[in-house]
Amino acid sequence: MIIDIGDIMENFIFKKSLGQNFLTDTNIVKKIVEVAGLTNEDLVIEIGPGSGALTIELAKQAKFVLSYEIDERLESILDENLKEFSNVEIIYSDFLNRIVKEDIKKYSFKRLFVVANLPYYITTPIIEKIIEEDLSIEKIVVMVQKEVGDRFSAKTGTKDYNSLSIFLQYHYEVKKEFIVSRNCFIPKPNVDSVIVSFTKRKYKEEIHHIENFEQLIRDSFRYKRKNLRNNLKSYPLALINEVLSKYGLDLTTRAEQISLEIFIDLANTLFP
Ligand code: SAM
Repeated sequence: MIIDIGDIMENFIFKKSLGQNFLTDTNIVKKIVEVAGLTNEDLVIEIGPGSGALTIELAKQAKFVLSYEIDERLESILDENLKEFSNVEIIYSDFLNRIVKEDIKKYSFKRLFVVANLPYYITTPIIEKIIEEDLSIEKIVVMVQKEVGDRFSAKTGTKDYNSLSIFLQYHYEVKKEFIVSRNCFIPKPNVDSVIVSFTKRKYKEEIHHIENFEQLIRDSFRYKRKNLRNNLKSYPLALINEVLSKYGLDLTTRAEQISLEIFIDLANTLFP
């Protein structure tokens, strides 16, 4: 079913620079909310409500929706579209500049979710911010550009596997849920999209110093074509080699061949 964007949006000029591609398909909106599996005890954070298509469905299922929208021109449209709902707060501000921990303090809720059709120009900074703020989020369900979804969920040894895949997969079970065609948006973007879910991992291997682990991964992937010996020149290479040899690997291995488990072993050995 097509969402009626209505007269209210008639004169709205979409800003490409803000990633403004709004969903026009109710079935997609419903499927996104279904993936989240919300209850009326949950708080949902949304980034970029646009005209409110997803916000409305979230408000029907969750206890509260806290939504961040950078574009103040949408305020009157959102006021109108969300007038039936008393459980939605919109903060008109750049999500990347907020301290979400502070913003959610006033809410009482059982579980915290993030559900959003993200502005694609800042997908990675948004995801990194959500994880770095350490908010204890039950599940994140986001629409992203298809290629970005491939990178988030990439397995060891594939071309899309990178430092962010490892970082994300340490914290969450990452799953590509379903593809969304570019025809489901107004204006139509020139890429297809995918819904990706991140479910908090209940059991996580212990990492002694998370910052060192993150730095080690970033350094290992610094130059994609170089092997670990070249990318990790400033580290104790003999010790690294010792760990790698347990897995039948050596310093000529490239970072994309190293699994999360081996990176954890390396980090805990180098930084006990
Ligand atoms: N949720 C709507 C939908 O699905 O139809 C709109 C999604 S649209 C892809 C992204 C939205 O994010 C736009 O409304 C845009 O104005 C907003 N946005 C862009 N940058 C933002 C930022 N830094 N902080 C908060 N919102 C932002």
